[in-house]
Amino acid sequence: MKLGAHMPIAGGVWKALVDGRNLGCECVQLFLKNNVQWRAKPYPARTIERFARERASAGIPHVFAHASYLINLAGPDSSARTRSIAALVTELGLAAALELPFIVLHPGSHLGAGEAVGIRQIAAGLDEVFRLSPHKHVRVALETTAGQGTSIGSKLEHLAAIFDAAAFSARLAVCLDTAHLFAAGYDIRTPAGWDRIIDQLDAMIGLDRVVAVHLNDSKAGLGSRIDRHEHIGKGAIGERAFEHIVNDPRFKDHPGCIETPKSKDLREDRRNLRVLRSLIRC
Ligand SMILES: [Zn+2]
Ligand SMILES: [Zn+2]
Repeated sequence: MKLGAHMPIAGGVWKALVDGRNLGCECVQLFLKNNVQWRAKPYPARTIERFARERASAGIPHVFAHASYLINLAGPDSSARTRSIAALVTELGLAAALELPFIVLHPGSHLGAGEAVGIRQIAAGLDEVFRLSPHKHVRVALETTAGQGTSIGSKLEHLAAIFDAAAFSARLAVCLDTAHLFAAGYDIRTPAGWDRIIDQLDAMIGLDRVVAVHLNDSKAGLGSRIDRHEHIGKGAIGERAFEHIVNDPRFKDHPGCIETPKSKDLREDRRNLRVLRSLIRC
């Protein structure tokens, strides 16, 4: 796996690439804008130029985005869902401006309407987003979730159902999150457990759809449905599990990105990446 981290964008989106290079990242995930605000403006030309320049000099093979946490396509028709659709269209435009290949998206929460309704709303919402967005080369990678609250995506079947129902499924991809899989009840701690899940995913959706892996340990236990990331090796998943995950030949060139707690000087990221690199067998 090509190891890296989610990097902050305070001071400019290009800052994520500078930090990423300093940490020796082979992949960087970033938010396209303040992720807890709806407001988004197009980037000025100088930002786009700076990003391209930093990217060329950093030489990081995989750079991609994570969508705002506010976006929820799974809810019932409402102003919040309409806003979510518009926000995702905007983010696809921002990703296209930075020449990013995909945006990772949490499928959403059905807010009480039930899983089947939520899945239909997500597929219909994505259809509308893709109809409205001219940026056909930027894909949306649906992330597996812990299943907290009424969130969709804690079962591989949820993602498969969205792919089946979506009109533009070629523009969809998958992002696996180790902490979310584990909290959702998938025991990835052994090579056999991990293989079972990957085989299921292959049969249901196809491994060619997997574009990224989030490498997070989990504070919460197996099947807890609680989404709390922990430093690699310090959680309920444990360091040994990451050995078979980062060395899985099926994901040899895939980005494997940590989203673990961090302070401003990024010292925790340095440690987590060091631990993961020590597990990579050449
Ligand atoms: Zn996420
Ligand atoms: Zn999470």
